[in-house]
Amino acid sequence: MDWLLYALVALLWPSPAPPAPPGQGVTIPLDPLASDQSGPLPRVTPARGDNPPLVVIDAGHGGQDPGAASPFTDRPEKDITLAIALAIRDALAASGRVRVAMTREDDRYLVLEDRYAIARRLDADLFISIHADAAPENDRARGATIYTLSEVASDREAALLAQRQNAADRVGGARMSPDPNVNLILIDLAQRESMNVSAEFARLLYREAAPVFPFRPDWHRFAAFIVLKAPDIPSILFESGYLTNETDAAYIDSAAGRREIAEGMRRAIEAHFARRGLRRGAGA
Ligand SMILES: [Zn+2]
Repeated sequence: MDWLLYALVALLWPSPAPPAPPGQGVTIPLDPLASDQSGPLPRVTPARGDNPPLVVIDAGHGGQDPGAASPFTDRPEKDITLAIALAIRDALAASGRVRVAMTREDDRYLVLEDRYAIARRLDADLFISIHADAAPENDRARGATIYTLSEVASDREAALLAQRQNAADRVGGARMSPDPNVNLILIDLAQRESMNVSAEFARLLYREAAPVFPFRPDWHRFAAFIVLKAPDIPSILFESGYLTNETDAAYIDSAAGRREIAEGMRRAIEAHFARRGLRRGAGA
């Protein structure tokens, strides 16, 4: 989509600084006050080939934030999400087609902005946040759900982001302008492309995983989750099942359940990158 961004810049902004060549986007601080941009980056598992794509797996919650509790298992959501995330990481690493990094590999607290900031600093191609649902008032609710960023949330975030950028920043490979109005268009385009790719990945994941484990009837939902707000990285939040449903809780907290979820994820992630022919740093 870079050509489209540049075409728009040329139309709207007669004498722009030359656009950066694709693939040389640098990580920008989305909100320097809210997130740590200088901390150590997590390790990245290797993969075969030139510039294999990079997926960041985010185990929801952690440390002082236990997430949801279950009446059916002693383990809080933060432990269950970490175990599932590690299983996905291991399945991808064993297959060796994509590189993987985790936002956390142990029981530690991360603010939400730091989670996608890690993905942006690593120039990741896909961001997946793992969670487990809870519906204390309805113990029959069960099944997995895939969330992507809602339209309203993305509009609001793009407007805020446009105000915060400076000329040295880039989103989706496009250099930011001193003019917030131009930035709004650039960020909006990058965000829209990311939302399209996120929805495409959501459909692939459903296709690969629904034969293996249950999804909710309305398996694709939209929300303003903070972790989904990187404007230039396709992102999903995966609710693996309900901790408040006995069958779901037993499944997502079992070795067999983790293995099947990890396998569905691995197939979907590899199919996603194979389909897109995406290379690391080749633009959104
Ligand atoms: Zn959660």
